[in-house]
Amino acid sequence: MKFGDLEFHIIGDGTFRLDGGAMFGVIPKPMWERVAPADERNRILMAMHSLLIRAGGKCILVETGAGDKWDAKPRDIYDFEGARLPEELAARGVHPEDVDIVVNTHLHFDHCGWNTQGVEGRALPAFPKARYVVQAGELEHARHATERDQASYLPDNFEPIASANQWDLIDRNTEIAPGVELLRMPGHTRDMMCVKLSGGGQTAIFLADLVPTAAHLGTPWIMGFDLYPMTTLENKKKLLPEMARSGWLALFAHDPKIPAARLHEAGGKITAEPVKVD
Ligand SMILES: [Zn+2]
Repeated sequence: MKFGDLEFHIIGDGTFRLDGGAMFGVIPKPMWERVAPADERNRILMAMHSLLIRAGGKCILVETGAGDKWDAKPRDIYDFEGARLPEELAARGVHPEDVDIVVNTHLHFDHCGWNTQGVEGRALPAFPKARYVVQAGELEHARHATERDQASYLPDNFEPIASANQWDLIDRNTEIAPGVELLRMPGHTRDMMCVKLSGGGQTAIFLADLVPTAAHLGTPWIMGFDLYPMTTLENKKKLLPEMARSGWLALFAHDPKIPAARLHEAGGKITAEPVKVD
């Protein structure tokens, strides 16, 4: 898809499964299972989308999926399947050394797995020439996660980037290339980011885990994982009506069927009209 001089593609690192109850927080199962059917272990299917962006002469990758540094037990729990990000990049002619900037909206394992790859038992940066961008507060939190959320943070996804001195830590909204703006969007974690793409009179927002799937557009449909759910609520009420009014494209990190949609608001309810993006 092209927005003026900015070009982006939605690619991905396949799918995985998370507990449906955890994914929908306070929403009762009879409501969520109509839009996200659970398997026999109560898990729902989730995609892991990345954005491949070309803007201002830079090749930018937003999110790096779950990667492949997994043992049998978590593989069984999360059921990783399907496409692999390195092959998805190669299919678009992008080699690891071509990537200039890697953006992690936050450092949960399903957003930064291919930051690194296993080489002879060690995790090393997968994009050797890239600067990796995250909020300083998110890296700080990842290193000191609490008992409640430490299972979401795997040091092999972020410490090798620090050892190789490839982190660019930011602490506010930042435009990293023409039309590519990182927006601090607390709620899911204190320092998560969304990504705003604009050019040629068009705008899209990659919603990361603020609204992981189209099923999460309803205001109280907030993940149980969120550390600050009331902040998620406020940010959804601010951002989603604005996106609907302005005709901005919504890009979903985890929706297995609807990677992109236009939003509509009627009677205080936000709905998604799927849009095809290559
Ligand atoms: Zn997350």
